[in-house]
Amino acid sequence: MPNDWSKTSTLVKFAILVFSIGYSLLPTARTHLTCRCIIQSFTVMTSTKFSSREELLDHIRQAPISGLDSEFSPMMVALAKAFEAKGMHLNRWWVMTPSDWECPSCKRGKSKIVRLNRHGYLMGHLHEHHDHMQDLVRERFGALSTARKTVVADKLAEKFAVRAGYGLAAYDNTVICSDCNRADGDAKKLAGTHPNFSYSPDEIGCFVIAKDNFGPHEIDKQEAERIWEEGKELFKVRLDMVDQIASLAADNAHWYQPSTRTAQQIERTAKIFLRLHGLYDIAVKEGVEAEKLLYTANVFSGEHSSWRRKATTFKGKNVPTPGDLDHLIAVRGNFWKKVEESWICPCCGRTKLHCVRPSNKNTWVFEVKGKWLFSEDALDARNTILLCDDCSNVANHLGREAGAEAGERLEYPSSLIRMQELRDTVIVKSHCPHRVDNAKVDKLMPILIDRLKSMQDAD
Ligand SMILES: [Zn+2]
Ligand SMILES: [Zn+2]
Ligand SMILES: [Zn+2]
Repeated sequence: MPNDWSKTSTLVKFAILVFSIGYSLLPTARTHLTCRCIIQSFTVMTSTKFSSREELLDHIRQAPISGLDSEFSPMMVALAKAFEAKGMHLNRWWVMTPSDWECPSCKRGKSKIVRLNRHGYLMGHLHEHHDHMQDLVRERFGALSTARKTVVADKLAEKFAVRAGYGLAAYDNTVICSDCNRADGDAKKLAGTHPNFSYSPDEIGCFVIAKDNFGPHEIDKQEAERIWEEGKELFKVRLDMVDQIASLAADNAHWYQPSTRTAQQIERTAKIFLRLHGLYDIAVKEGVEAEKLLYTANVFSGEHSSWRRKATTFKGKNVPTPGDLDHLIAVRGNFWKKVEESWICPCCGRTKLHCVRPSNKNTWVFEVKGKWLFSEDALDARNTILLCDDCSNVANHLGREAGAEAGERLEYPSSLIRMQELRDTVIVKSHCPHRVDNAKVDKLMPILIDRLKSMQDAD
């Protein structure tokens, strides 16, 4: 049910009621698939595979299907009835979104977006809203290239322009309701923006005055003007970049080098064959990834201790500069801000600064993880302890290794290890992941395995 039930029009209330009542009368096998638990039932639903159009429509007429919508769905049929519509006029984005979809701009749900069009049909249209920078780059490229005495640009040059133009877009293509998509155009005229400017989905949300089952949206002109004024300068920078990219492409002085086949193409092709050969169906049943049916992912699974046997060296910068730290906090600072300045890892005793280390991608990172560790004290055992990422990793590895030796997959591997045991095994260095003392871990392992067994016996 909508949150603001009182604001919902009587017509829609009626439709929703018809829908819910009709729905509650359905056979019990389907009752877990109410509109609300669509998300939860998603995993259940993916295994529902229809084998014919008849079977599909039969099902849809009785119950919503997860992730998608349809003009045959009970809710849409009930809405059409409530609006006394002659029929329905939906588009592909409407059916490619679930029935509880909400417009990211005006925040209306589907039952509030629908309205009768002038033909008396119930209209449900969603649109892919896009930034027009890419089109503009292509246009400018065409104009500059055509204006040259000899055209030097080729197909690759155009591809370069399109790819680079993509990076100039202010937002990703986003599905919004047709009223909001239209409001973008209307607001541009009202606010007198540059013709190639477009408002982002969030910005549209700021100036539309949305009413249920009504369109087009009224527009808050002042707000639309304010957003344009605020973004104007940066938009000019983007326009300059468009020209720069377009002229590089027109001069064929670009840097794009195509591959005969991209990794993405290979992956797409493989997925077609994985589906064709039924691997996805098997994978769903077994709860694994489809391609993992074809190879042994962990060849050294016999050696559960391999994680700590390999020699690790850490190349690159050793100590973060104050600038590195500022950048880390600004760009990836969630964890840094989560713990206070005086925090030290209760296990390895490193300060926040000393826990900062290079990631695999060679950017500086700082992370903390809430972990369950082993404790005889029931209260301690119930609470998670905030550890540095490196202590947390070692705890997980130790638990997993013990589990693997005992033939068990543990949901919380770290919960097998005492803080003191973890502290004893790690070799601590600033700005580095921990290594472990293998001799100590070798001694610890049988203890962990015994502990695991006695915990299972206790269950
Ligand atoms: Zn909208
Ligand atoms: Zn558009
Ligand atoms: Zn630590």
